[in-house]
Amino acid sequence: MADNNGCLVCGQDPLQLDGCRVAVIYVEDEKYVRIPFFGDLGERCHDCNALSGHYHHWGCDAEICPVCRGQLIGCDCMDVECPVIINKQPGRKATNRSNRQK
Ligand SMILES: [Zn+2]
Ligand SMILES: [Zn+2]
Ligand SMILES: [Zn+2]
Repeated sequence: MADNNGCLVCGQDPLQLDGCRVAVIYVEDEKYVRIPFFGDLGERCHDCNALSGHYHHWGCDAEICPVCRGQLIGCDCMDVECPVIINKQPGRKATNRSNRQK
């Protein structure tokens, strides 16, 4: 299942980042820190392209659910289609600087 709309929680194109920028997810008002991908040094997740030590992009089939420690997209702990992410600080505009790297 590949859509090209970018990651559901960070809004970025997974191919452009080393990992997801969103570290925390809320499930029924409980705060959970997501579990990063750990592979070999420099290894990337086969599904979401996250670099080892970084967070998976949302919907990755290799992400571990921080609630039940099962496969996140396969468990019922949260609505994968509509995750609750509170990562932005209200009233503070995200600076949209173009970040061109070569
Ligand atoms: Zn992401
Ligand atoms: Zn992944
Ligand atoms: Zn779960």
